[in-house]
Amino acid sequence: MSNPKKTNKLYSRPIPDPDILTAKEFWEGTKNNKLILPFCNDCQKSFFYPRIICPFTGCHSKDLSWKESTGKGHLYTFAIQHVAIDGWKEKIPFVTAFIDTTENVRMLSVLINVDASKPESIKIGSSVQVKFEKATEQIYVPYWEIVTNE
Ligand SMILES: [Zn+2]
Repeated sequence: MSNPKKTNKLYSRPIPDPDILTAKEFWEGTKNNKLILPFCNDCQKSFFYPRIICPFTGCHSKDLSWKESTGKGHLYTFAIQHVAIDGWKEKIPFVTAFIDTTENVRMLSVLINVDASKPESIKIGSSVQVKFEKATEQIYVPYWEIVTNE
């Protein structure tokens, strides 16, 4: 078992420890620049985070698969983080955000390439696109970026 707080010189923040029982496909996808989300074959909805049972009320099916996301969505809301632990300390201030993907999946993530010292420059509802940052040879971490020039 690896240590989830393990870091390296390339990527100073905590490196996710992939749960191969429920999230192997997710991490295989990020490694290939794809956002692969859990999908319920019964209610036909994607969701996040990966788990062994559909989270939607009235469904709770265990008939799950995986479906590639468009990797696009919009910024639902955000917050500027001024306090952090581990390698995130080097990144403060940074922006955490709830992203609504085009599949109507709400993901908590980090918004990159924005000026956290000017929150007024970040517009709720902005179009966003997923990006993947290499943490190790095996782990690529998804972040989101505002799409400009649309
Ligand atoms: Zn379902």
